[in-house]
Amino acid sequence: MRIAVLALQGAFIEHEQVLQRLGVETFEVRQLKDWEQPKDGLILPGGESTVQMRLLAQLGLLQPVKETIAQGLPVFGTCAGMILLSEGHLGTMDIRVRRNAYGRQLGSFHTFGNVEGIGENLPMTFIRAPYVETVLSDCCHSLAAVDGHIVAVRQGNQLATAFHPELDESTCIHEFFLKLAREGKD
Ligand code: GLN
Repeated sequence: MRIAVLALQGAFIEHEQVLQRLGVETFEVRQLKDWEQPKDGLILPGGESTVQMRLLAQLGLLQPVKETIAQGLPVFGTCAGMILLSEGHLGTMDIRVRRNAYGRQLGSFHTFGNVEGIGENLPMTFIRAPYVETVLSDCCHSLAAVDGHIVAVRQGNQLATAFHPELDESTCIHEFFLKLAREGKD
């Protein structure tokens, strides 16, 4: 199994390290020719969604990435990656998100919460995070909420968290994503 990690900007190395610990091969996507390699899944890391969107467009990656996800490639977006999947961006997930929902400077915090079907009391690190303001269709399911706001969602093969599981010890969420990638392969 090979997982593509979008490596234009942001916290992509941390995802590669988690997958390495789980014994899964990764490769970095920096340009179109990287993207064209065979892959079983894609990780969209945290960072700055505006910068990532601009780079995706400039590099000619926006449409190919969007189409491949829409066709069913398993994808996991964290934080800015969640924003990328949302309405008004790649738009493959039926969610409307609020960027920097916890404030720009003081918006970083750590908590624990349950993620439905994945694990209980999981660590959740939020860094200038978004949350899901509205789930726009029945195809998309909330998996976790913090203070009444949705912070993890799944829609078929698409998984997104407002927090950063790659920065904590627990690998539950990555393992769940790898299960989607493995099933997507069969
Ligand atoms: N605030 C960033 C954005 O709006 C997301 C922050 C993150 O990915 N840690 O894109």
